[in-house]
Amino acid sequence: MAKVYLVGAGPGDPGLITVKGMELIKKADCIIYDRLAAPELLGYARRDCELIYVGKADSRHTLPQEKINELLVEKAGEYHCVVRLKGGDVFVFGRGGEEGIYLREHGISFSVVPGVSSAVAGPAYAGIPVTHRGIATSFRVITGHKRDSHEMPDLDFSGMMDPSETLVFLMGLSKVRQIAEGLIAAGRDKETPAAVISHATTEAQSVCSGTLSDIADRVERKGLTSPALIVVGDVVTLRESLRFYEDKPLWGFKYLVAKIGQEPSRLTAMLREKGAQVRECRVGEIMGIPAKYSRTELENVDILIFTSANAVTYFMRNVFASGLDARALSHAKAAVIGQKTQQKLKEYGICADFIPEHANSKAFAKELKGYVEQMFQGNPFKRAKAWYPMAKNAKEQLVDELLEFCDCGRLDVYENVPCPMELPEELTDFDALFFTCASSAERLLKGQEPKVIEKMGEHTKIYSIGPKCSAALSGLGVSPVIEAAVNNYEGLVNCVLQK
Ligand code: SAH
Repeated sequence: MAKVYLVGAGPGDPGLITVKGMELIKKADCIIYDRLAAPELLGYARRDCELIYVGKADSRHTLPQEKINELLVEKAGEYHCVVRLKGGDVFVFGRGGEEGIYLREHGISFSVVPGVSSAVAGPAYAGIPVTHRGIATSFRVITGHKRDSHEMPDLDFSGMMDPSETLVFLMGLSKVRQIAEGLIAAGRDKETPAAVISHATTEAQSVCSGTLSDIADRVERKGLTSPALIVVGDVVTLRESLRFYEDKPLWGFKYLVAKIGQEPSRLTAMLREKGAQVRECRVGEIMGIPAKYSRTELENVDILIFTSANAVTYFMRNVFASGLDARALSHAKAAVIGQKTQQKLKEYGICADFIPEHANSKAFAKELKGYVEQMFQGNPFKRAKAWYPMAKNAKEQLVDELLEFCDCGRLDVYENVPCPMELPEELTDFDALFFTCASSAERLLKGQEPKVIEKMGEHTKIYSIGPKCSAALSGLGVSPVIEAAVNNYEGLVNCVLQK
């Protein structure tokens, strides 16, 4: 069995890691990572996983390669599963080969999980295919960096004259002028299309295109920063017809999502998918509250009420911890507030019996009343016994409403506890803030100066997932609040798109 996995993290977009790479990140005891590996990926690591940053920007290595090699051997002795996470692909200018050889020399087994290289994915996200029928029949990936020096590498430009070969230079941003001039001097047409793509596949992607004769000036004017790659060849013109990434509807907007828990929020992924730049601020952690239930107790429940996927997860954990499973709930009906909760319940083998037409608590209570009444065919002497697993300290008005027509037992199965917050930037720097629960709103905004809250109203839109969250925001003096018409992530995203 391998001890060390050399894993390619992909070019920047966290979604471009391989399935195998992601499984290893989730399993790793220790992750040793580079500057170029998407930071979001580390959010999927186990909480007790040791994370070690070894830097490695173009030429300045935070930790010299020899030290990284030694560190790999040391950690392999300490742990079962060590992941060496590298930007792009492991072997494309990634020094993965050196690490593999060193590990083998030290008797440590390893596996390689290739990654999507920026050499191909970078141009692709700019709408440039590295090969194209009738235009380019091959592509060459070249380093623009000379080992241990800032000089120009000894590139043989005369060997790069084939107009049907696309050239991709990595680590060459600071040499773009020398590269372009070198190619022209060696005889490549000065009108050959060229593009420089910086921060490719990320929300900061910036593309500059021109020809060999003017690309260096254009890059300078636009002030592109590293990491960046240079593409040379007629395929660059296809960008006009193939660009897609920067044309997304939310491209250029900067958002902040307040989230609970370590894992990246699904809302963030959805907004990014539409092109937005999204930062996250973690405002809390979810902790289960263990409890034991007896079979008889569960068999006496007429209806289980779930208003969040977390409630389902932590209630079911307690059912299992009690030595029982879904069969102990076979007497009870299950009511869920919306599709996500329904989906989570289904994962435990239980299909919901009731789901309201509108996913908010008001509609839920109203429609559930009708459902419960017909459960006992209008028998006024029979009151349903309901169990309502939920978050401790949650102010659930719904309980009072439910008590009007059933015996509703509130069950604390998890807790949303505050955690230290790190605001990535000033709140007013964002085009919009997103809140998906009342507690997030309170935690993020309570300490803010009234001035900031007021200024936010002018500059920064405030989106809320539903009535309870909106009420909390209004209570904090935030106005106006834009509330999703459909109270889920999809509803929020639609709301933004309709702006
Ligand atoms: N193993 C990596 C390359 C490492 S060399 C891979 O396969 O992608 C580092 C160089 O890769 C950078 O100097 C830059 O030229 C390029 N690069 C990596 N990520 C990039 C990105 N997101 N956008 C543009 N260039 C990138």
